[in-house]
Amino acid sequence: MLNKKTVDDISVNGKRVLVRCDFNVPIKDGKITDETRIVGALPTIKKLINDGGKIILCSHMGKPKGEPVPELSLAPVAERLSQHLGMNVIFAADNEVVGENAKKAVAEMNNGEVVLLQNTRYRKEETKNEENFSKELASLADVFVNDAFGSAHRAHCSTVGVSDYVDVSVAGYLMAKEIKFLGDAVNNPVRPLVAILGGSKVSSKISVINNLLEKVDTLIIGGGMAYTFMVALGYNVGTSLLEADYVEYAKEMMAKAKEKGVKLLIPVDTVVAQEFDNDAASKVVPEGGIEDGWMGLDIGPKTIEIFSEAVKDAKTVVWNGPMGVFEMPNFAKGTNAIASVLAEIDATTIIGGGDSVAAVNQAGLGDKMSHISTGGGASLEYLEGKELPGIACLD
Ligand code: AMP
Repeated sequence: MLNKKTVDDISVNGKRVLVRCDFNVPIKDGKITDETRIVGALPTIKKLINDGGKIILCSHMGKPKGEPVPELSLAPVAERLSQHLGMNVIFAADNEVVGENAKKAVAEMNNGEVVLLQNTRYRKEETKNEENFSKELASLADVFVNDAFGSAHRAHCSTVGVSDYVDVSVAGYLMAKEIKFLGDAVNNPVRPLVAILGGSKVSSKISVINNLLEKVDTLIIGGGMAYTFMVALGYNVGTSLLEADYVEYAKEMMAKAKEKGVKLLIPVDTVVAQEFDNDAASKVVPEGGIEDGWMGLDIGPKTIEIFSEAVKDAKTVVWNGPMGVFEMPNFAKGTNAIASVLAEIDATTIIGGGDSVAAVNQAGLGDKMSHISTGGGASLEYLEGKELPGIACLD
């Protein structure tokens, strides 16, 4: 259930609307190489144009560290937006973001027009959520719309601070979709709820594991983090990724799973090699069978079968992190197999950011998933059960 207001709940006719977008797009030699985020922002922008708002867009791009960096200017974004919207999007090229160009452009705006501000991280105050820049941003607007889920876990001027100084703060469509899918999965899931966690480290997903054990029916652990669990079970893992400091934690999590009645699955066979190399000779070894000098780089075929069986009847699946070193084609089988199973089952499937999104897209199965989260860090924090400041500040 969405307990935040969205752009559908407000009237913006004639009002100045500041929209925080995620235009943090990759740029090479002045050209945008992936427009997914620009295209993703269009529904909210078009809705506000149709409703007669005066739309002022803002975003960060990269890490200019509080000063103007020409390569990180949003000028190319304004150009692409103009083409997508079929209208002139005015770019306010102020190094101080809210400068003379921005003020003049906003003062002269008609209803339905669009202005884009310069990279918000040109200002050093942005990432410190300092009041003066929040107030400057708010001085341009009556309404604040946050549509940048990927930055919602950061309390910055343009994601949080500005909301204190405008009349109304609501979610855009992208943000609303993220809150709905991730929120429902974690707080109000259709069961059985299965979470699949992978990736390199237990340490980066401690709180996720801990929180999900309170919520899920089944927790599947693959990828590099599984070896720490194997050691907790008393197995040798050779030269596989291991976080020795987290073995005790892994034991605690296994005990917690038992106590909560959660089915916790870890790999029962492993694809191993002697080198971290796609072309290294590899073999499959059974549970407990990793020898000294060998490292696990993917889950084995039996594990694929067991994991697939465990998600088959799920009604909600959340997946974060690859099952192996999926960047190397010879060790991508486990990850691809999970992607294929999720594409087939009759369940709400949510892919939580970062590498699992890359893996799903690499397998060409992106459009078969119910929801692909755009924010890696933000979706992880959501799964940790944290309240994200960029969502908490909305009405
Ligand atoms: P993370 O950023 O923690 O989600 O981890 C993603 C990374 O984990 C990817 O780059 C994978 O190559 C890596 N990974 C997954 N499984 C393994 C493994 N068995 N050994 C080493 N790295 C792995």
